[in-house]
Amino acid sequence: MRGTAGEWAWAVLVLLAASTAAIGDEQPVARPELVVLWSDPEQRVPVAVKRELFRETAALFASWGVTLRSSEGLDSEGRHDVRVVLLERSRLGNGRARVLGQTHVAPLEFPAVWILVPNVREVLEHAGEATSAPVLARALARVAAHEIVHALGLGHAPKGLMRRGLGASDLTRPRVQVSDRFQEDLLDALGPRVRHATLGRP
Ligand SMILES: [Zn+2]
Repeated sequence: MRGTAGEWAWAVLVLLAASTAAIGDEQPVARPELVVLWSDPEQRVPVAVKRELFRETAALFASWGVTLRSSEGLDSEGRHDVRVVLLERSRLGNGRARVLGQTHVAPLEFPAVWILVPNVREVLEHAGEATSAPVLARALARVAAHEIVHALGLGHAPKGLMRRGLGASDLTRPRVQVSDRFQEDLLDALGPRVRHATLGRP
């Protein structure tokens, strides 16, 4: 069933089979869709960074078989699954432990994650990375993906994107690594029916 993302959608955190294609004769393949509302309340993240950030994040999820749709604003009237808030001024953490992002699933009506933009920038600078728009956007996309995946109910993994305490190299290296079961777990989190159709398994 396809509908506007209303009350029921957030409860299961799944989006609908937005697009379908056929494998073979008639077996439909549903690609899970995730709607993300990006909020930049301080409006201090450059437009070029945000544009690239949305694109990079969608590309990451696409590589895992999930269609991610982005919109930007403070409210989408509930038509989103996860809200990602980009904070520019706030700085959490102390000493060497910089918090890059946080996930809040409850008690909010919609899962929300926070990305601490200055801390991400600082981690890059500390590692000697130039924080050009594309580099910063890529790093932010990885932090966002890490937190969105948490918001979908997945925990940490020993290595790769879901490692606890991502470092500069995790945020900048060309390829994103995930654990062997990551995609399966992600699709499980998005719904068994969709996973079945996507992976073509019983
Ligand atoms: Zn984490």
